[in-house]
Amino acid sequence: MKILVSNDDGFRSPGIRALREALATLAEVTVVAPDRNRSGASNSLTLDVPLRVFAAPEPNVYFVPGTPTDCVHLAVSGLFDFEHDMVVAGVNDGPNLGDDVLYSGTVAAAVEGRFLGLPAIATSLCTAPGSGAHFDTGAEVARRLVAQLLRKPLDRTLILNVNIPDVPIEQLRGFRTTRLGYRHRSEKIIPAQDPRGRPVYWVGPAGAEQDAGPGTDFDCVANGYVSVTPLQIDFTRHAALPVMASWLEGIDG
Ligand code: MN
Repeated sequence: MKILVSNDDGFRSPGIRALREALATLAEVTVVAPDRNRSGASNSLTLDVPLRVFAAPEPNVYFVPGTPTDCVHLAVSGLFDFEHDMVVAGVNDGPNLGDDVLYSGTVAAAVEGRFLGLPAIATSLCTAPGSGAHFDTGAEVARRLVAQLLRKPLDRTLILNVNIPDVPIEQLRGFRTTRLGYRHRSEKIIPAQDPRGRPVYWVGPAGAEQDAGPGTDFDCVANGYVSVTPLQIDFTRHAALPVMASWLEGIDG
């Protein structure tokens, strides 16, 4: 059993260290992760410059000046002379709830694993970035999910998006399956000035919760449960196909 571990916070982050240690009790773990924080990278691939892979001092840990998707793509598409059996991403420093998944590099790392044919789990600790105290809880949750997946394999097209309350493990109330909620639109951009007086901007915080009622991932973690959302990648709005067919009538004269 060989597990590829990646993330978007960078190979030095406490979350990926905890995850690597927890999964090492179940499998041979290889880490291939960005050299620095690439949160918000989504599914981007680096195509304009070559990718370089560096070995970290720890065994079986590699870092790449690239995106999470670059890392998983490299690791699963020929970097090694062996195949991985699963991809686990995280433990992210911060939640990936609702529409966060669209921007998330953590989820993107799992999505890339799934595109390349592997079972994939994305794990995120629901904490304010930088303040996460319980990455060991997140890593233990990941270990239990991987063990469960080994006992009870799932459809390989599923991606599991897991959000974990930032509490000691004994305070978790259990595991629940959820759907993604939605946020309000993002907060406004934050203007500032560079040292030469020119305007610069920071992307503002994610919007507040909008659709966060019972059954959603937001509600689940707010109540102290681990949220497990099965994701699919199918952007087609299937229900709109008949409407579109009639909408296009007459357009070609
Ligand atoms: Mn991150």
